[in-house]
Amino acid sequence: MEGKYAFFGGRIVPVEEAKVSVRTHTMNYGTGCFEGIRAYWNEEEDQLLVFKLREHYQRFLNSCRILYFDLPYSVDDLCAITLDLIRREGFRGDSYIRPLAYKSDELIGVRLHNLTDAVTIFATPFGRYVEAEEGARVHVSSWRRIDDNAIPARAKIVGAYVNSAFAKTEAQLNGFDEAIVLNQDGHVSEGSAENLFIVRDGVVVTPPATDNILEGLTRAVVMQLCREVLGLPVVERSIDRTELYVADEVFFTGTGVQIAAIIEIDRRKIGGGKMGPVVQDLRDLYFDVVRGRLPQYRHWCTPVYVNEPVPAGIA
Ligand code: PMP
Repeated sequence: MEGKYAFFGGRIVPVEEAKVSVRTHTMNYGTGCFEGIRAYWNEEEDQLLVFKLREHYQRFLNSCRILYFDLPYSVDDLCAITLDLIRREGFRGDSYIRPLAYKSDELIGVRLHNLTDAVTIFATPFGRYVEAEEGARVHVSSWRRIDDNAIPARAKIVGAYVNSAFAKTEAQLNGFDEAIVLNQDGHVSEGSAENLFIVRDGVVVTPPATDNILEGLTRAVVMQLCREVLGLPVVERSIDRTELYVADEVFFTGTGVQIAAIIEIDRRKIGGGKMGPVVQDLRDLYFDVVRGRLPQYRHWCTPVYVNEPVPAGIA
C-alpha cells in the first residue's frame, strides 16, 4: 500500500495530482533538498508516533538556507502540514515521510538564485531500509565523500545523493550490503545514507561533523542514549580506515537503517563476526524510544492521532 495523498502546491491533493514537468529545474540539476522521517506504530496505544519531527524540519530549513530556498513555512507550519497529511492517510503501521523542497521553474540555466521555491511532502508505509540490520557485510568504497566545499554533506541535497548512489551500487554489485565512504583526506566519513560508529575498549567513537557527514539525528540520539542510559563515554573524532578492522563493534545509524550492526568489513570479521553487546543494547533501547515506551524520551515522539491515551508513568 502506498500513500494516497501529497502536500503539493500549498495544499493536500490526491498523489496522482502531485506531478511536475520534465523541464523542472530540480529534475535537471539536482537543486533540491529533502528529509526522511519515520513514524512508528505503537500497538498498545493504538497510536502513530512521528520521531523527532521538529528536528527533521529544523534540518530541512537549514538545508534550504544553504541552497537559497526561502520557503513561506516555519518549522511549526511544516509539522502541522505533515500531521494533517498523515491523519488524512490514516496509516496504522510504521511509515516514512518525505518532505522535498525543489526549484519549480521550467527553464534552462544552472544556478540557485532567482528561482521559484516549492515544497512537497508525501508519505508511505515503510518497514526495513536494509535487510541486514542484525549483521551487515560491508566494504570501504572506492568512491570518496563529497567535500563541504563541493556539495555540502551537511545539507540533504538531492544531487548529492548521486555520490551515495555510486557507493551503494558499487557495494551491492560487489556482493556487500553497504558501503563505508572515506572523505577526501582518507578518514572515515559515513555510509551511503547512514552515520557510522565504532566501539573500542568501551569508548563509543564517531566522526565529527567536520568530516563531511550528514549531521544525523539518529547519530545525536545514539550519542545521548550511550551517555545517559548505557553510561558509555562518546567521543567525536576522525577515524582511520584500519581502526574499523580492529574495532570491537562497528555500526550504522540513520532514520532508514535505524541501528544496524556491521559484522564484516573488507572481508575481515568485526568482533568475532556477530552483533556485539553495545549494538544489541542500543537497538533494544532505540526501538523502545521510537515507539514512545521510555517516558524520559517520550517528547521525541509526536502523536499523529488526537485523544492520545496517556501512557503509564507520565503525569
Ligand atoms: N548520512 C546520510 C548521507 C544520510 O542520507 C542519512 C539519512 N538521512 C544519515 C546519514 C542519517 O541521518 P539521520 O539519522 O538524520 O536519518
